[in-house]
Amino acid sequence: MLRTYAEVQNAITSGTTVVSILEDYLTRIQENQHLNAFLEVFESSAREQAEKVDEKIKNGNAGRLAGMVIGLKDNLCYEGHKVSAASKILEGFESLYTATAVQRLIDEDAVIIGRLNCDEFAMGSSNENSAFGPVKNALDPNKVPGGSSGGSATAVAAGLCTATLGSDTGGSIRQPASFTGTYGVKPTYGRISRYGLIAYASSFDQIGPFTNSLEDAALLIEVMAGPDEFDATASTENVDDYSSVETPGSKKIAVIKECLDSAGIDPEIKAAVEQQIEALKNDGHTIEYVSFPYLDYMVPTYYVLTTAEASSNLSRFDGVHYGYRSDAAKGVEETYKKSRSEGFGPEVQRRIMAGTFVLSAGYYDAYYTKGQKVRRVLQDKTNEIFKDHDFVLMPTTPTTAFDLDAVTDPISMYLQDIYTVHANLTGNPAISLPLGKHSNGLPFGIQLMAPHFKEKALFNFARLMENKAVTSA
Ligand code: GLN
Repeated sequence: MLRTYAEVQNAITSGTTVVSILEDYLTRIQENQHLNAFLEVFESSAREQAEKVDEKIKNGNAGRLAGMVIGLKDNLCYEGHKVSAASKILEGFESLYTATAVQRLIDEDAVIIGRLNCDEFAMGSSNENSAFGPVKNALDPNKVPGGSSGGSATAVAAGLCTATLGSDTGGSIRQPASFTGTYGVKPTYGRISRYGLIAYASSFDQIGPFTNSLEDAALLIEVMAGPDEFDATASTENVDDYSSVETPGSKKIAVIKECLDSAGIDPEIKAAVEQQIEALKNDGHTIEYVSFPYLDYMVPTYYVLTTAEASSNLSRFDGVHYGYRSDAAKGVEETYKKSRSEGFGPEVQRRIMAGTFVLSAGYYDAYYTKGQKVRRVLQDKTNEIFKDHDFVLMPTTPTTAFDLDAVTDPISMYLQDIYTVHANLTGNPAISLPLGKHSNGLPFGIQLMAPHFKEKALFNFARLMENKAVTSA
């Protein structure tokens, strides 16, 4: 099983073809169908691509990702292929164009193997909100893989492809990475073009990778990042060489007191984070416990603003323009109502209603405007921390992966995001890297957040932390 691009490259150097690497992954996907990770395998286009890449390797003109086999979260467009955001409402819809991030991978000779299950429209923390059934955690099929990019996480953990793409609006890459023992990165807002990513909350959404090594994540972001004429929010900020390794000197790291003191954190996770802190101190880094008394505002602010944006973004799915249309409907109004009621699942409907409410004339100021103001305060206060610190360190998740069907009320599910929504509210880049193994046998991650566009520093410090990963219990 080839888990990293380094292993893929070694195999290629010793004569293995990309076609046979692909075949091995296809077999593994077959053998792991119980995980429900893939919604569709793009067998014929992947084989075609693999053959082309083999040809290029022979001719000595292959790209930087030659032979890397990549799965896409089912909210990324790939021309001529189905995309559904794991929703019934997009039934039968085929992408008319390819997302910029995906195109850049293909241009460097990656092979796109299929589309991966996720929570419907990326709304969820357990991948139980898919219209196509829940995804299982590769490390224990009775546990959730996290969400919303659960298929992407579990596929990497199970070695069903070399890497995957996910999207992170409030933690959907980092939380499943923590639950599956993989690496997950949410880049700075605007680092990677969102063109071709089905929008959930446009001012929060970012595309990012899941991998089995830091190097693969750095390389993928390097390839995907940069300006794009199709996305005005894609930054023109210089793209650094994230994949080149530099050992950082002594750094100053802020640890948010309230995160480690919060009620829901598993004591073993807390202990492991503290152990990591001690190890960093011993290496000469400065750790400061800072107070950031806004933790309780994060999740509510996130849900006011993201549901508002979702209610607007999802209004295009009306039973006329895309995918599913109710057979039972007569007339325009009824077509809208029935198609949307039948096409969207319960969580998506809940969020559209919540978002419509917070944007309604009578409540706009009380909720939406207030939410925007709180977001600004969170951004200002976070910038203040970064004036004086290189990074912020915190747990990725309060617990390890939980049982399927265990978390049933929406508020408890929303609180899964307690540590991850921060980076989306403020736009900062953040990574979850595997930290340790709980006495229950499951992995968990640690989260490092950096100032805007400091992905290079983030990777370099993460490389250093990685050597300090602890195994508690
Ligand atoms: N779990 C969060 C939510 O349900 C985050 C989702 C995401 O990042 N796409 O909104």
